[in-house]
Amino acid sequence: MIDIKSKREIELMKEACRVTVLVHKAIEEAIKPGVSTLELDKIAEKVIRENGGIPAQKGYPGPDKYTPAFPASICASVNDEVIHGIPSNRVILKEGDVVSIDLVVYKNGYNGDAARTYIVGKGSKDDERLLDVTKKAFFEGIKFAKQGFRIGDISHAIGEFVEKNGYSVVKEFQGHGIGKSMHEDPGIPNYGKAGKGPRLQAGMTLAIEPMVIAGNENILELDDGWTIVTQDGSKSAHYENTILITEKEPEVLTLL
Ligand code: MG
Repeated sequence: MIDIKSKREIELMKEACRVTVLVHKAIEEAIKPGVSTLELDKIAEKVIRENGGIPAQKGYPGPDKYTPAFPASICASVNDEVIHGIPSNRVILKEGDVVSIDLVVYKNGYNGDAARTYIVGKGSKDDERLLDVTKKAFFEGIKFAKQGFRIGDISHAIGEFVEKNGYSVVKEFQGHGIGKSMHEDPGIPNYGKAGKGPRLQAGMTLAIEPMVIAGNENILELDDGWTIVTQDGSKSAHYENTILITEKEPEVLTLL
């Protein structure tokens, strides 16, 4: 069942998304060589709570019974880490690192979800291109994020664009509906067949999130039960926004 949000619900979604953007801005300003990912996490939690929100990822149940709940307010994934990196005072950012920050803010009953990837200081041309393609893949995908198209149209556009540029998309993780819950129907893979899947309707709110690997598509899970890394050690980037489907162009709620 894909939830259609009412006008009031959309206003509440917009507020959660507004706070999500504020947090990303604070993190972007703080990212520099010598800063730990735990420091970024503390900044995020402070900004979220100062703005009346709750960090939705903190305490999120693990993927299996052996994995403790997620301990932090952001996921911070560095270099070959793809997603779900756990902030730590042992992870100190250095010049040229590629760091993906994914965060979800819960406020007044609704969630806002966005991810950005940054290069610490000055990066290599290759890494800049990886970030650029990942971000552009999102915008290629949302060309089809309007009433009448199908989820598969978004998935196909993202996957095709990434592969055309010589990179791989992560197949085991995907975008999702979002609202009262962080993860709602439908799942939104970053690859697939055009013309397939649920039809889009005005009032749906979706988190679209290309996860891109510079090398091959294979991933591994670390022993912490959370962190996903590339198998070949190549770098990875993540770009995500929460969007609202309308009868015309989609509204990207986590861009200000
Ligand atoms: Mg996210």
